[in-house]
Amino acid sequence: MFRVINKRTLMQRLFIYFLPLSLIGVLIGAPFLLLFLGTASLLFWHYKQLYRLSDWLHNQKSFNPPEGEGSWEQIFDGIYRLQHRHRDKRNELAGLIKRFREGAEAVPDAVIVLQKDLSIVWCNKLAVHVLGLEWPGDSGQRLDNLIRHPKFAHYMQANDYYEPLELDSPLGTEQMLEFRVMPYETQLMVVVRDVTELKMLEQIRKDFVANVSHELRTPLTVISGYLEMMDAESMPPLGVWGKAHGTMSEQCQRMNALVNQLLILSRMEGPRKTEQDELVDVPNMLKLILIQTETLNIDKKHVIELDIDQKLFMFGKVEELRSAFSNLIFNAIHYIPEPGHIRIVWKIKDAEPYFAVYDNGDGIAPEHIGRLTERFYRVDQARSRKTGGSGLGLAITKHVLSRHESHLDIVSKVGQGSCFSFSFSSERVKKF
Ligand code: ADP
Repeated sequence: MFRVINKRTLMQRLFIYFLPLSLIGVLIGAPFLLLFLGTASLLFWHYKQLYRLSDWLHNQKSFNPPEGEGSWEQIFDGIYRLQHRHRDKRNELAGLIKRFREGAEAVPDAVIVLQKDLSIVWCNKLAVHVLGLEWPGDSGQRLDNLIRHPKFAHYMQANDYYEPLELDSPLGTEQMLEFRVMPYETQLMVVVRDVTELKMLEQIRKDFVANVSHELRTPLTVISGYLEMMDAESMPPLGVWGKAHGTMSEQCQRMNALVNQLLILSRMEGPRKTEQDELVDVPNMLKLILIQTETLNIDKKHVIELDIDQKLFMFGKVEELRSAFSNLIFNAIHYIPEPGHIRIVWKIKDAEPYFAVYDNGDGIAPEHIGRLTERFYRVDQARSRKTGGSGLGLAITKHVLSRHESHLDIVSKVGQGSCFSFSFSSERVKKF
């Protein structure tokens, strides 16, 4: 334990040092000379200590500072303690980094830590295996120089990591990899997962639905063909038969619609090229949809108010857009109590083409809203079936919109009505 030298002790020491000097000086008759010599040797001693400290700081490799003397003792000792405290902290941090790396090695995914400029700070063994990186050889290299894929470079530069990126393995194997980027502080953590099996299962599911729907088409066509042949004129007007015939025809139509919608969904799950976009005359398309709704609306007598910009055209896929627009209009007609009020809007809003269907129906409870675009999800199964709904309409709309870089917004208040809307990027607009 070293002594802390306070102001008083220092003063005492100076007094003890200079008092005998002054006395001897007085005795020999040269007090100033002795005081001068005493001060000079004190200064020399202090400079010596200063030199030792500076020499240790700059030239010595020893971890501990030299032994301090006199009033310098506490300074050397303070530095000694500071050194030890820093070493403990450093060891603690090194232990923390080691534990983090061991943790990251235990993760079943490839992990790479990058600087903001995409240079590699660290990667685990799986990253070496899955991406063919070399460690520590590739430390400091830019990841987009090592994974040479335009999609990867574009994804990393876009700086929007909300959606993960799927990419074929850069090693040329059959693997499909999913890249997730998590920015934190000044670095990025990239987690790469092998999703080959998941993709395969998804493909099997898609193929299965597409094949079943396709295979069901032929028997359905045959059955509905025969049902049409056996219409009321060719068959005796038997009560039971007449009812059965009607039900069979109706269910056959429903099944046909269901199969067609499943086929549309399957088709939309495939990739779409933006080059396939064409100029769509939306006002005319809406006019044709509204003509179709007239028969539906004869009994219901809903008031349909239109706010349509006749000059607003857009680029997109016409059949897909037709089903997105018509699903919302038909739903409003089907699901609001008669006679209701429907407002259809197609115009520029906030510089973007905007479509909305407002209704004053019963509205939808909040717990259903998030699930409406799920396949076969219906708020009221019985009612939906009665209207001939398959539960696929909004799922199709959602797919169409995502293929046009848009999404469906649903705002609804129970007892007041709903608004289903979407807008497209201003780049898709064509105004006449
Ligand atoms: P469906 O083919 O059954 O109409 P959709 O996917 O088009 O399937 O719609 C899903 C469900 O959303 C419907 O069953 C209905 O319960 C609800 N829904 C859709 N539009 C409206 C609306 N305008 N008002 C109230 N409910 C609606």
